[in-house]
Order: sequence, then C-alpha cells, then structure tokens
Amino acid sequence: MLASQLLAPTLRGMPAEAETVSHQLMLRAGLIRQVASGMYTHLPLGFRALQKVGNIIREEMDRAGGQELLLPIVQPAEIWQESGRWDVYGPEMFRLQDRHGRHFCLGPTHEELITVLVRQEVNSYRQLPLRLYQIQNKYRDERRPRFGVMRGREFVMKDMYSFDRDAAGMEESYRILGEAYHRVFSRCGLHFRMVEADTGAIGGAVSHEFMALAASGEAEIVYCPECDYAANVEKAACHPRPAGVTAAAGTGLEAAEIVPTPGARTMAEVAAYLSLPAAQLIKTLIYQADGRLVAVLVRGDRQVNEVKLQRQLGCLDLELAPDESVTAALGCPPGYVGPVGLPAGIPVYADTEVPIIRRSAAGANREGCHYVNLEPGRDFAADVVADLRTVEAGEPCPNCGHPLEKARGIEVGQIFQLGTKYSQTLGATYTDADGGEKPVIMGCYGIGVSRTVAAIIEQRHDEKGIIWPVSAAPFAVVVVPVSEKESRQMELARRVYGLLRDQGIEAVLDDRDERPGVKFADADLIGFPYRVTVGRRTLEQGTVDVKERATGQEEAVPVDRVSGYLAEALDQGR
Ligand code: ATP
Ligand code: MG
Repeated sequence: MLASQLLAPTLRGMPAEAETVSHQLMLRAGLIRQVASGMYTHLPLGFRALQKVGNIIREEMDRAGGQELLLPIVQPAEIWQESGRWDVYGPEMFRLQDRHGRHFCLGPTHEELITVLVRQEVNSYRQLPLRLYQIQNKYRDERRPRFGVMRGREFVMKDMYSFDRDAAGMEESYRILGEAYHRVFSRCGLHFRMVEADTGAIGGAVSHEFMALAASGEAEIVYCPECDYAANVEKAACHPRPAGVTAAAGTGLEAAEIVPTPGARTMAEVAAYLSLPAAQLIKTLIYQADGRLVAVLVRGDRQVNEVKLQRQLGCLDLELAPDESVTAALGCPPGYVGPVGLPAGIPVYADTEVPIIRRSAAGANREGCHYVNLEPGRDFAADVVADLRTVEAGEPCPNCGHPLEKARGIEVGQIFQLGTKYSQTLGATYTDADGGEKPVIMGCYGIGVSRTVAAIIEQRHDEKGIIWPVSAAPFAVVVVPVSEKESRQMELARRVYGLLRDQGIEAVLDDRDERPGVKFADADLIGFPYRVTVGRRTLEQGTVDVKERATGQEEAVPVDRVSGYLAEALDQGR
C-alpha cells in the first residue's frame, strides 16, 4: 500500500471529546471517525485491525468445533415475544416497524434467532453437539455510549451458541470455549483475567467474563493473590463483617434519640459531626425501581451494588431517585433520609450487615437531624435483608481467606451456561437415543471484536502512539524513504517495499511528500510493529535501519536480507 493513497487521516492535536487513551489514539491514528453518538466508521487502518482480531477469533472458534454462519441483524418481534424478552429487554433495544406496521428490532444479541433455527433444523441426538457462531454488528441503545468503540451503540460482536444433549455436554462445550477464549486474548497480546460473572439479561446459571486489565476499564473485579478466585464485583458475594461496635449483653441500651446535625449530609460529614466511625452509621438511599420508590440501607462505609439490587428487586429500570422525588415523598432532602418512620408505601431493603450494627446513627427524615442509638429490630425493620453491597479490597477470599485485591478491567468477552432457558421457552427439542423428546442444552459465548481492538490499544501504547502486537497490526511494516525528493533513495525504498511484498509481508511505503519528522511521527502514531528507514546509509553501505516499535531497538540490515530478517521477526512476534 502506498501511503500517498491510503486514507489514514492522522491528527496532530488531541481530540477534545476523547476521554480514554484508546479513543484518542483511534481518532488520532485515523482508525475511526464518529458518525453519531456511539456509531463509528472504521477507516481502512481501523478496519484492518478489526479484521485481524476477527480472523484470530475465527481460527480459534473453528478449532473449538465452531461453524460460522450469518443471521439477519433485523429480527421479528414475535420470536422475542415468544421467549418473553420483548418486554424485558428495555430501552437498550432499537425497535422499528416495517411498512406494514410489523414490529422488528435490531439484534442486540441472537439467542432467540439461533434457537428458532435449531428448533427447525435439529431433531435428533445425532446432530448434537452443535456449535454455531457469527461475527456481525450488534445494536444496543446504551444509556451512556462512550470511550469510542469501547461502548458503542453499534459494535461488532462474535457470538457463538452451543447445543448439547445434556448438562455434561454443555459443560464440556463451555470448557472448550473457555480455553479458546484464553487463546484468542493471548494471541491479541492482552493481559486479561477470567472472572466469575453475573448473568444479567442473557440469563443462565454459570457465567464468566474475560477482563482486559486497564485502569480506565468500566468494570471492577476482585481477585485473590493466593488462589485462583476472581470475580466481577457485580457478582462477588459479600458476607457480613462485624463493624467492631458492640453492645454488651444486658447493659441497658439508651433509647434512640434525634439530635441536630446541621449541614452534615454526607456520611463523612455525619460521622465527623457525631464522632462516630462511618461503619457505625446506616446509609439510606432512595431508589426508583420501574418508577416505584424503595429505600436501601447499607453500612455507612459501604457502597450499594446496583446490579445485586436490581437482581433482588427484579426490576427493569433502576436509578437513584431524583432529589425532588425524595423531598416530595419524605419531606427532607436525601442527606437526612433514614430507616425510622419511612412512609408505608416505601419498601425497605437492607444489606446483610445492617442488622448487626449496634447503636447506629442514621438520618431522621427531618432536615438537619439524625437519629443516634438506633437498634435494628427495636427501632426499625427491613422488609428484605439481602446481599446488596459491593465487596471491598481486603475482605477475605471466599476460597482461602486471603485478603482480596481489586483491579479494573474492560470486559472483552463473556461466556454463559444457559441450560434450557431458551430451548424450553422456544421449544427447541430433539429426540434422544432412547426415543424421548428433550430440550437441547445451550451455552452462549460473546466477544466484543471492536471493543477488543480498543482494549489492545488501551494496554499497548506510549506517548507517541499505538504499539500493535504483530497479530493485530493493520500493517506489519512501514518503509520510510528519508527524502522523497532523492530519486535514488526513493528507488531503493521501492525495491525494499517490493522485496517485502514478495515475501508476503504486509507493508506500507511512505511515498508522501512530507518531512522525515512527519513520516516518523505518523509511523509511531499508527504503530507499525517495524519501521524500515531508507536513507543516505542505504546508498553508501547498502543497509537499511530496521526499528522495532515496541522496544525502540534499531538494527542496520543489508538490503538483500531485509525481507528474510523481517519475516523471521514477525513470525516470532505472532
Ligand atoms: P457490558 O456489561 O460492557 O455492557 P454486556 O455484558 O452487556 O457488556 P454481553 O451481552 O456479554 O455484553 O456481550 C458480549 C460482548 O460484547 C461483551 O463482553 C463486550 O465485549 C461486547 N459489548 C457489549 N456491549 C458493547 C458495546 N456497547 N460496545 C462495544 N462492545 C460491547
Ligand atoms: Mg457481558
């Protein structure tokens, strides 16, 4: 490819709208351009990287017994109504009607369509197991599209679905795919961890996510440095920990009383004002769950885990109630809300630690006032007590007791043991060897292909630009003649470029009429794994300078050896 003809519009300045490094670099290196919020065009370089990652995935899915197919993006509402998900998928689903008024959606995922296919085409145990996958655009009207292609509203996903005769078969498919996922992400050059995960809207019993570790990741995980326990905090179970505040048995407990706490609204301010540790306070938050108010209690130093809360409530939509709704319902602003004397219509959900906090303090549902000496059971009661909080670093590992550590990650893939969730509702059955009719047992396995490209960049870059692994690089090599005006240099550069192409190496010849500084800066920004510089030394000594992007190491290589040298280096880097 000639750089003069390549549509790779690099930017010098920092794009103001990009918050993460990968988003900045994808814009600056000319990989993507935004079309609308969460919708992007992949320019040639971005598309090549996407294809590279897609092909790694393809190879590993095929190796894991997968067969590639292509389902339509537009899906009829009926199959979603049949599975029961048309009404529960919520505002993330893009819905549309055709000219006849029939309802459709743009596929956010494809469990329904594939299960209906298998219902039609598979009827005997002899056709199982079956593993089908596709690589295709998915559509989700995300509440907060951000970080470029990391959280888009249109994005590329690989989705595989497995169909087995029984649970043991499904578990075997799950194990094989888990291993395939390890190979995919290793080949992409990512540092990642497989963690236990919540099953969310997809459903099923067992699930794991693959997290590319990155400080900017939206997901938070806990892991044990001593054993192999690792989980998304949305999933990690919490056990009540004593707050260190006790009331000796038999001592007369003082009655709860209301004290003034003017200006103290946050947990820290209240703790300081009352001279109590935050662990002795009860934090009361009012949520709006499908439009209905609920009160949620956690220890003052804990965080409510909204995924656990949503699962507990079984609601479709959950958010903190706006201040005005809280004031209208309770007569005080959110900072003074507490569990005593809440209106009867507001159910109270307490985290498992709340009932063991003694002599606690909480808002009095009166502006500028808090209760002290609160005793759970005596002064207030919860309607539901459940694990509603997020695990903290330092809590003991559920397997071995060692203190847990936290990290942030980008969810690049997730796998699920679905069981019969879809085959049952959609009636996908087969006839077993004994003649009995049984539901097929399913698993599903997703990889965010476009998100994986962004995750690679998030992990592999420096201040100059992207540092592609050879496996995902849009092109492996750029050949840079120092002076495009020097016809002999240009001629030699063309020769080197030709030698590389003959060797099957994907190369770009930077034939643009630009200063060497600009060409070098673009080469670093785009992140070609190798740069071959053709300059004065090439004419004098017959060598080119081969520079490795990742290490910065440079070596003078004779022109006639350069293609062999690079073929070997690229092979090692793969
Ligand atoms: P998230 O929790 O990040 O919203 P998800 O759990 O809803 O993702 P899945 O249904 O598991 O996503 O989809 C499979 C994969 O598709 C994810 O692991 C992720 O890599 C990718 N993915 C999901 N949503 C998006 C998105 N909005 N933009 C880009 N990739 C996405
Ligand atoms: Mg997921």
